Amino acid sequence: MCAAVNNIYCVGRNYKLHAEELGNQVPVEPLIFLKPSHAAVQLDKAVIELPKQSGLIHYEGELVLRIARDYVPGITVEELVDTMALGLDFTLRDIHNDLQKKGLPWTAAKGFKNAAPLTPYIAFPDREELEATDFSVRKNGVEVQRGNIKNMIFPLQRIVDFIAERHGLGTGDIIFTGTPAGVGPVAAGDSFELYWGERLMGSCLIG
Ligand code: ZN
Repeated sequence: MCAAVNNIYCVGRNYKLHAEELGNQVPVEPLIFLKPSHAAVQLDKAVIELPKQSGLIHYEGELVLRIARDYVPGITVEELVDTMALGLDFTLRDIHNDLQKKGLPWTAAKGFKNAAPLTPYIAFPDREELEATDFSVRKNGVEVQRGNIKNMIFPLQRIVDFIAERHGLGTGDIIFTGTPAGVGPVAAGDSFELYWGERLMGSCLIG
């Protein structure tokens, strides 16, 4: 378990190319869903067990914000967030597609145990560094995803304001801010490495 994770908010379809690769419409307001805090595990040379016989599993590499204080109206994202990590929003894709078709909640597809592995945190960079640095995911040594906050449909400030106003946002909450294009399948034995620029933030092996 990761220390002191409270609510886990996730933003769906926050990068245009990713929404399009799954055949989804680009949303007009942030699409927010939740994972249970039990889904959070360390992505730090760990072996991560994922559900078996549940159909296709996808990785979604994402920038993750940690909320350091309780939200008050007018607070900036820089004041609100002290550290960030990279995470994988693991998704049972077949089940997710089925749930979406039926209009059912996403919990079975997005909220299973170990569905939210997180690298160790680093200090939240200033805007200049955030925009100058890509995050990337390597699967079995090959880069499969590369993202930058400049390509988000909804900027970080809009996301924290939206979540706070609708759902509440406070100390210990974390936010998965959406995945760029390049999501793909996960199989037992795969390795994942998550990079902030050239810096290796964490790695894991799928059990
Ligand atoms: Zn995601």
